[in-house]
Amino acid sequence: MPAHSPPDDAPRPPRSLRSPTAVVHLEYDSTSPPPPPSPEWTRFVCISDTHSRMVHVPPGDVLLHSGDLTAMGTYADFQRTMDWLCDLPHRTKIIIAGNHDLPLDYHDDWYVKNYDRWHGVSKQSIGLIQDLIQGRRAAKSGIVYLEDDHYEFCAKPDGRKWTVYGSPWSPYFHNWAFNYQRGEEAEKLMAAVPKTDILLTHTPPHDILDKTTVGNEHVGCEALAARLPALRPRLHVFGHIHEDHGAVLREWPAPGSPSGAPLPDEGDAVAAGAASSRDAEQTVFVNAANWPMGPRACRPGGGRVQFGEAPFQPVIVDLLDDA
Ligand SMILES: [Zn+2]
Repeated sequence: MPAHSPPDDAPRPPRSLRSPTAVVHLEYDSTSPPPPPSPEWTRFVCISDTHSRMVHVPPGDVLLHSGDLTAMGTYADFQRTMDWLCDLPHRTKIIIAGNHDLPLDYHDDWYVKNYDRWHGVSKQSIGLIQDLIQGRRAAKSGIVYLEDDHYEFCAKPDGRKWTVYGSPWSPYFHNWAFNYQRGEEAEKLMAAVPKTDILLTHTPPHDILDKTTVGNEHVGCEALAARLPALRPRLHVFGHIHEDHGAVLREWPAPGSPSGAPLPDEGDAVAAGAASSRDAEQTVFVNAANWPMGPRACRPGGGRVQFGEAPFQPVIVDLLDDA
């Protein structure tokens, strides 16, 4: 047995989740992905942490990328990523940055003050990079870059409107891009997040698909987790903690229960086939990181799982339009 193989009795996460208003596919045949339940559903394909690598992405109505578009934020890194994203067939592609997308963090001149740590004397052109992600070619290809901003779109011609909010920030980690301090700074940032159908953040919320292999710690954002009962998005996509790639489906307490009720814990996740009412408010949480890391990054027979290969495939989320 190779040294890093997971033990045979390691629990395997489910390959799909199902409720009356959401269907999630975590592992599937990429040459023939399962179809959406009916035309009354919208297909969201969730990816993250692709770090300038191209992964095989199934078709769908909307592509969502939760940050770390690049390896180290050079112009060449962004060019590779944007060439790939522009060619993907999805009508709408919503993207955010992550802590590796260094030049995009111009807040308080962060990149200008810190670029030499990664880029030496080769300071990258912020303007040229912004043109790659927000210029005419990106816009023509359906790409929308969100940075602490929201957007409204129809996923299908004459279809319903969806709202989305995107935030590139993550809790402080060795002064990478878009870092904030836990506590007051985090709370201020999260208080500004509005209620939308879809939420994209680079960081996971605390205690949801945020566990590191090294240290076995939950490192997601506490302030984001505390904000979620008020936001209740139908879909929340994040990445950052590559090794905890996966999805859970949670049902919120019915209206009338005390406000600010804590998030149901993982044991209350709606599992495949579990009874749940169509009226109950639910959130599909997806850690969409495609960079294989942790015990699951080793193939059972030996060798490494490739970028975006099962069990680190793009996550397919089908949502019923009228819910
Ligand atoms: Zn990453």
